[in-house]
Amino acid sequence: MAISRAQMAPPESARGLDYDTIVIGAGISGLYQLHRLREMGQRVRVFEAGTGVGGTWYWNRYPGCRFDSESYSYGYSFSEELLAEWDWTEHFAPQPETERYLNYVADKLDLRRDIELRSRVTAATFDESGRAWEVTLEDGRRCRSRYLVTAVGPLSAPTLPRIAGIDDFQREAYHTARWPKHRVSFEGKRVAVIGTGATGVQAIQEIAKTAGHLTVFQRRPNWCTPLHNRPITKAEMDEIRTTYPDIFQRCRETAACFVHTTDPRGTFEVSDEERQAFWESLYAAPGFAIWMGNFKDVLIDRRANTLFSDFVADKIRQRVVDPKVAEMLIPKDHGFGTRRVPQETHYYEVYNQPNVELVSILETPIERITPTGLRTTDREFEFDIIVYATGFDAITGSLDRIDIRGLDGTTLKERWKGGIETFMGVMIDGFPNLFMVMGPHTALGNIPRSIEYNVEWIRDLLGHLAARDLTVADARRDAVDEWTAFVKEKGEGLLANEVDSWMTGVNQNVEGKQVRIIARYSGTAPEYRAWCDRVAAGGYRELVLA
Ligand SMILES: Cc1cc2nc3c(=O)[nH]c(=O)nc-3n(C[C@H](O)[C@H](O)[C@H](O)COP(=O)(O)OP(=O)(O)OC[C@H]3O[C@@H](n4cnc5c(N)ncnc54)[C@H](O)[C@@H]3O)c2cc1C
Repeated sequence: MAISRAQMAPPESARGLDYDTIVIGAGISGLYQLHRLREMGQRVRVFEAGTGVGGTWYWNRYPGCRFDSESYSYGYSFSEELLAEWDWTEHFAPQPETERYLNYVADKLDLRRDIELRSRVTAATFDESGRAWEVTLEDGRRCRSRYLVTAVGPLSAPTLPRIAGIDDFQREAYHTARWPKHRVSFEGKRVAVIGTGATGVQAIQEIAKTAGHLTVFQRRPNWCTPLHNRPITKAEMDEIRTTYPDIFQRCRETAACFVHTTDPRGTFEVSDEERQAFWESLYAAPGFAIWMGNFKDVLIDRRANTLFSDFVADKIRQRVVDPKVAEMLIPKDHGFGTRRVPQETHYYEVYNQPNVELVSILETPIERITPTGLRTTDREFEFDIIVYATGFDAITGSLDRIDIRGLDGTTLKERWKGGIETFMGVMIDGFPNLFMVMGPHTALGNIPRSIEYNVEWIRDLLGHLAARDLTVADARRDAVDEWTAFVKEKGEGLLANEVDSWMTGVNQNVEGKQVRIIARYSGTAPEYRAWCDRVAAGGYRELVLA
């Protein structure tokens, strides 16, 4: 249901509002949205739950946390000054560096004066007569703004496993995405890591360096490939700086905004020798080249996918000494690249260390966490530290945790109970003046490139409204239906959509998220942007403006 012009009362004077726009979240999205709206002369307030800015790079302080995006393709691209001043020191920067970078940006753009930290938004209700959003904070405070932008992150609502007794453990326990600011020492300690997704892999290879004994609890293995990180010298950084226009141009052209792009050849169009040599070169190449730069059919054609999966399986067998452990580490339930590919540095070699043990919790499930460790169906374990690398309630998790109510008090959860429906991942009919940066069904990939696009599209729409003395924008239902159908169509034929993962909306640790849905847009970013550009160029006919 979209709002109609007749339904709307005359606009309330802006003087009755605390702000023009409230932004929720001070990660890359929120910081940039604040900057762009303030530039337009808006009064903006950002509410951020954390005690610092940076979002993902503020919360995820776990050992080993770093980019899979090439650092210089991830930073903001809009400011010559930021690009000129900031030096990345590694091809795939570690978390402390990215957190420093985002603090530098916040200072450089003087953003802090409009950001309130330690301020979690619990509810947001659209007031039709006032054409305003009323936002409630955890401490009970309320504020009103004309517009509301959610910049709450696609991967920012952490989930713990659904295991009995989690609160019983009497020693140190950490979730990777709520890692403390103080240093955690693993020196000589008995450590458990639960989870082997992208985060678990990064943490395990780091913790194994000092732990007295490390036990890894794996539900299902992932296809991990080498990151090949290395430092960036000053001279190299100077060289990179001169190529920034090319780097960002490339990111604009590729399907997922990475510097890597699909090889135009099909897997079976080349000779066996050529194929083998190409795959060896990809295995030796840095970053996601192996995932994003592979033959064009590897993620679509079952036979091609199986052949490449076999290639990676052999690499795992070569790297892990114990054949039984190697087999445990080779995925059997999904092909390469159909779930998020963790990038690793000596991850597989960790399992050759005498102080590391791998336990399959599919074979012997964890029954409960105990005061001193945990119990599987097979054994009792004692630990000094338990690390939960159990990820996030992805894509909609952070939105679900806010009581968002649009027209007629309809909650966002009610609106989406039959499945996610959006207009370009940015708007939802019946929720006027609500805009999502990195909402569901938007282009993801190398995310800041899509963030910059989303933020600027929202800025332009608000500029369009301001120039015409309009104060309401709501998506039309048919525009939502059309976009949602397009998203579904783009998901067809992709092997990734036949597999349980956060990308298909499945999280065994979250109630109600056991069934596969189309949780993300899997078309290309250029197609996404073309759609959004068309809407803007056509004068936003897909929206009701009033
Ligand atoms: C460990 C890890 C590594 C990653 N590596 C990469 C990578 O290499 N490349 C890549 O492209 N992407 C990567 N990502 C994805 C990453 O999330 C995005 O790149 C990017 O940081 C998203 O920025 P954001 O501002 O949209 O969201 P976030 O950075 O998640 O920020 C959202 C902010 O909103 C705040 N918030 C949420 N709800 C509320 C509320 N109710 N009230 C107040 N504040 C709230 C949160 O506290 C958080 O600070 C990674 C993610 C993780 C978790």
